[in-house]
This record gives sequence, C-alpha cells and structure tokens, in this order.
Amino acid sequence: MVDPEGRPVVLLVEDETSYVEALQLGLGGEGFVVRIAASLNEARAVLEGLSPDVVLLDVMLPDGSGIDFCREIRQSSDIPVIMVSARSDEVDIVLGLEFGAADYVTKPFRLRELVARMRAVMRRHEPAGDHDVITIGSLRIDSTRRSVMRASQELDLSRKEFDLLYLLASRLGQVVTREECLDALWWGQDLSDTRTLDTHVKRLRQKIEQDSGSPAHLITIRGVGFRLDR
Ligand code: CA
Repeated sequence: MVDPEGRPVVLLVEDETSYVEALQLGLGGEGFVVRIAASLNEARAVLEGLSPDVVLLDVMLPDGSGIDFCREIRQSSDIPVIMVSARSDEVDIVLGLEFGAADYVTKPFRLRELVARMRAVMRRHEPAGDHDVITIGSLRIDSTRRSVMRASQELDLSRKEFDLLYLLASRLGQVVTREECLDALWWGQDLSDTRTLDTHVKRLRQKIEQDSGSPAHLITIRGVGFRLDR
C-alpha cells in the first residue's frame, strides 16, 4: 500500500516508547508513513484496515511473541516483516526458526542501517513485472525470484553475492561507494575488515564475468567503489 503522496507505509509494532518516538521521527524523516501498534492486538486491528509496505516487529510484546505474530501474518499476506530483537539470544531464536521473516535487526541499531534493510526487503517484495528483471549482456537478474541466469543457465550465487549484484544492477552505470555496499550488506556489523567486500566482489566476478581477470561488467573504481556496466 502506498499513501496518496506515494510514500511507503511502515507498521511499527513496538512497546518501548523510546524506540517508538525515535523511529516515528527518524523514519518519517526518511519519507515513510509510520503507523504504530504497541501490542499484537493493536497490530491486528491496524492490519485489518491497512496493508503496509513493510512491518517492523518487536520480538517481545506485552501480549505475546512477535515470532508467533509473524507466522500469523504469513497465513494471510506476504507483507515483508523485519524482526526487531533486543538481545543477541533472541537473534539465535530468530535465525533458528523458519517463520517467514524477511530480515532482522538487533537493538540498538542505527537508523541508516534499518532503512537500508527496509528498502532492501521492499525491493525484493515488489510484484513481478519488467522492472524486476535487469538484463546485462547475457545476464538476467530477477529480483523477485532472486535468481541470476547467464544464457539459459542459472548461476549459483550466495545471498550476499546476489544482494551485491542487485545493488549494483539497480544503479547500472553509476558508481556505488564501498560504504554503501558495506551498509547494505553488512549493516550494523564491525566493518573494520572491509576486505570481506573485496572477497565477495572477486567471487561474484568469477561467476558473472567471462574473464574475471579482465572484467567487462563489474568494474572497480579504485578507492571509491564499484560500478556495473552493461
Ligand atoms: Ca518489547
């Protein structure tokens, strides 16, 4: 659902006032319409009249578990859900279960990281259509299916390799800075070792380029970032 001015709508299911206030302000400033529910019951009521573009769902709520509620949402809709957990042991639970969440963040998080996550899951969720498939030479990148075909062969890309390729492809011909890549792929983690990014770029090249030693598509802009060329 998009509001009349075309802004994406987020349902924030959160009972901690400090987070609610900060996110209402922060996400509003990022162009989101923010709807608030402080409990699962309130969230159910909001969802009866509204289909948001994305749901931010706290794990521990006064009247139940966000994980159970995510399952509940899954039964009737495919709205992307990002779980918000307060402790790292909750993360283990979130990661260990298959209940249909699109992603998760751990408190405390930086707004910029959260927004990058939200935009990524919303992008993935866009309905199938021409704009979901980007063709670059013999590569065909399908963001809905999260698949990459070269000629008629499907490439075996890891989740991060796909995210990186899609990030670059969605800004074809433009430089994406290293910082933007790191933010989108490794948000909230210690980024002191940025060689991880180069390792992923190298692996991605080996999969998508005819000659990874002399890449035709995935170009390094030294000291700045990367650019994907058609
Ligand atoms: Ca809570």
